[in-house]
Amino acid sequence: MSQNIIVLIGPPGCGKGTQAAVLSELLDIPVISTGAILRAECESGTPLGNSVKATLAAGELVSDDLMNQVVASWIVRPQYANGFLLDGYPRTVPQAIFLDHTLESLDMPQPTVIHIAVPDTVLMERITGRQQCPSCGKVYHLRHTPPARDGFCDHDGMRLMRRTDDTEGVLQERLRCYEEVTAPLIEYYREMDFNSVDGGENPALVLEAIEAALGLPVW
Ligand code: AMP
Repeated sequence: MSQNIIVLIGPPGCGKGTQAAVLSELLDIPVISTGAILRAECESGTPLGNSVKATLAAGELVSDDLMNQVVASWIVRPQYANGFLLDGYPRTVPQAIFLDHTLESLDMPQPTVIHIAVPDTVLMERITGRQQCPSCGKVYHLRHTPPARDGFCDHDGMRLMRRTDDTEGVLQERLRCYEEVTAPLIEYYREMDFNSVDGGENPALVLEAIEAALGLPVW
């Protein structure tokens, strides 16, 4: 069976999480979200979680070595043998080089990269209004996609949460990190199977653009 390995790159708030969830269903491959893995570790108070908590709270990046170890230990799990979608990794050129080598050593194909581009002003507005269900992960926006019942998930009725790093000050740091270390990734990947889509549109249109880039039938 051919393995689909997809990397989603884009600034915080570009819609990676939303698109990853839909693509995962469409392509029938699971998502590996490094941000979600780290947040779960922090909430469970594991040694890994405790070691990265302050970094996440400040909107800074966790070290390449640690992230590479985390991802290397996940992608060898049986549920990822037929492919997977990476949301939030790689985020630096050294992480991308590590991923390439790891995939090669596992006899897996090189990834198809989807870059979701969105201007900073749109990101700030999106992120500061974002709320998420801690149970199913569904993302809402207070103005654009509010839940039917204020503060509660439509899907499972859980109380919605705001990510502690979704404040304006922390977002500015996350955007600065993105420009400094993640934007060069785009140059690294441009020579490979690289596709850039306009993420400033609504999620359905962004999905259509991604489907077209992946050569999938657009519904
Ligand atoms: P995200 O949910 O992708 O926005 O990630 C939330 C936070 O987790 C980031 O601001 C970083 O502190 C950390 N993080 C997630 N993925 C990575 C990565 N690949 N490299 C470094 N830090 C990461």
